[in-house]
Parts: sequence; C-alpha cells; structure tokens
Amino acid sequence: MYSNYITIMKQAYKINTRSLIISTSFTLLLLIPVLIMKPDTLLAERFFPGSGWIEVSLLAIYAGWLSQVMINTKNISNIRVKYWFFFSVIFFTQFLLGLFVNDKFLMTGDLHLPIPALIVAAPIFRGEGFFMPILLISTLAIVGPAWCSSLCYIGSWDNLASLKNRPKKVNRKQTIILRYLMIVLVVAVALVLKCVGASLTAIAVFAIAFGLFGVFIMLYFSRKLGYMLHCTTYCPVGGVVTLLGKLYPVRVKIDQNTCTNCNICSSHCKYDALSNEDINAGKAGWNCTLCGDCLTSCHASSISFSFFGMKKNVWEVYMAIVVGTHAAFLALARL
Ligand code: SF4
Ligand code: SF4
Ligand code: SF4
Repeated sequence: MYSNYITIMKQAYKINTRSLIISTSFTLLLLIPVLIMKPDTLLAERFFPGSGWIEVSLLAIYAGWLSQVMINTKNISNIRVKYWFFFSVIFFTQFLLGLFVNDKFLMTGDLHLPIPALIVAAPIFRGEGFFMPILLISTLAIVGPAWCSSLCYIGSWDNLASLKNRPKKVNRKQTIILRYLMIVLVVAVALVLKCVGASLTAIAVFAIAFGLFGVFIMLYFSRKLGYMLHCTTYCPVGGVVTLLGKLYPVRVKIDQNTCTNCNICSSHCKYDALSNEDINAGKAGWNCTLCGDCLTSCHASSISFSFFGMKKNVWEVYMAIVVGTHAAFLALARL
C-alpha cells in the first residue's frame, strides 16, 4: 500500500527535464528581447512599467508546467484543445477590453480586425502592415504548421466545432483544390479593391462578412462533418501554412511493422491527414498540422514525429518548442 503510494507520487511528480528546459527557454528566448527592446508590447509593462519581467517569468513557468502535462501522449488531444482555446479566450478578452474599456489593451493602440484572412489580404490592399505576415513566417520557421493546430486565435473555434462528431470522409482532392482557389480568390479580391480605391469602410464590411461566413462554416459544416472544414478549405492562411509548413523538417511517421491497420487514428485526425492510403504509406497526408492528436489515439505506439526522416521520435522536443511558443503568444499575439 505504502509502496504503491510512493510509486503514484513519483509518477505524479515525474519531471521530464529536457522538455521543461526547452519549453521555458523558448518562452524566455522569444520574450526577453521584446522586454528589452520594446517593453510596451507586454501588457504588464503597459499598465505597470517595470513589471514586464514578472509577466515573462510567469509565462515561462506556465510553459514548463504545460510541457510536463503534454509529455504524456494520453493527454495530448485533450490538453491541446484546452490550451489552444485558452489562448483564443485571452486574445478575444483583450480585444473586447481594448474596444470597450481601455485602448491600452490593444497592442498597437489601433483596432485591427481579428480575421486571419487579412494576414494575406491586408498587406496586398494597403501595401504596408507586414507585422502579421512576418509573425506568421517567423512562427512557421519555429513550429512549422502548428500555427494551425496550436497558435491561431480562430482555428481553435473550428477545432471545437468539429469535436462534436467523428470525422466523416471528405473528398480530399476537392478540399485541396478549394483551399488553393480560396487563396487566389482572396488575393484577387484584395487587388481589385485596391485598384478601384475602395474605402476602408467598404473593406471592413467585406472582411467582417468573410469572417462571419467562416463562423457559419464552422458551426454548420465543421460541426456536422466532425472535420475542420473552415481551416482546411476556407481560410487562405491555412493553405499558406500547409504549403510553407512543408519546408519544416518534422513529419508524422507510421511504423508499418507495428501498425495494426485499425484506422483508429484516422477517426481522430480533424485535418483529414490520415486516410487508409496515408497509413499504408507510413506518413501523414498533405494537410497534417503536426497537432499530435494521433499519438493519443494509437494503441500500438506506431506513430512518431520524425526529424529529417530520422528514426528517432522527436515529439518531446517538438512539443516543448510549440508549448514555449504558445506561452510567448499569450504575451505577444494580440491586436
Ligand atoms: S486555417 Fe486560418 S483560421 Fe484555421 S488555424 Fe490556420 S490561420 Fe487560423
Ligand atoms: S496526422 Fe496526426 S499530427 Fe497530423 S494533423 Fe492528423 S492527427 Fe494531427
Ligand atoms: S491507430 Fe496506430 S495501429 Fe491503428 S492504424 Fe493508426 S497507426 Fe496503425
């Protein structure tokens, strides 16, 4: 009885030093330069000058704790949904406080519409405002396509909407074509609006209508299909992320020697990246965002995260980097 208790306590407090160090260091690495060069970017500094280091330290501790929870593959899908949504809540709470209470809550002091498609469309229309595209590309260099599975303030909603049902089969070819047509469409519309000299009000109406239709897609289609249709077809940033994410060296691999072809992982992937063909080919499909949910679902531990095709499973390191970036995003990626 006593020895059982000790074992449970040991397991409960088992610390994975490597992921702890990586996640906290990543948060500090991303936030300390901000604290030194542009402290006002941090919310604490805007209200209590000189207190930014407290915010940075708390976020680093949070990242360390989260990495310890996520190290257990059984927790991945459940906890990722929660921390991703937590970010979205913080983001939109700050947005609303900035709108209705105090504009200090808005990072730039100016209002920007929280619609990811604008990351692509706004710089084309305005010929300036490259902060978000630069943030996106820098983040892709750090975490690859996990922008669309852990970091975007809207994607979390699509994820939640799709949780209600198990994924239904979709026509992958059609969804991929649709996804890239959306990028072309959004770029074309931004160019046309620029050429005709559309007013900012007209642009805002356009963008809000686009965003609201996206919410309708989540609530109706993603919910019904159990699949993140909004993020895999409608949002143009998703297409860019998947495309550029292919430059990132981490990939999902399936060990054909241990895989039992049970297809359970397939019914846990909300991005349609684990069809029968993908499983038989031993790798995730085109839409994979490196979310890690399939690790939770595989009873045979056949799925791993590989770096440059190497055999070693790098999930632990990759997850710690994503978690560290997520903690830094809590401080940075606000409007
Ligand atoms: S596809 Fe668009 S809305 Fe979805 S997570 Fe990616 S950027 Fe966000
Ligand atoms: S294949 Fe796995 S890691 Fe990739 S999106 Fe699907 S569940 Fe996530
Ligand atoms: S859940 Fe695991 S064992 Fe089953 S098909 Fe997927 S990879 Fe293979």
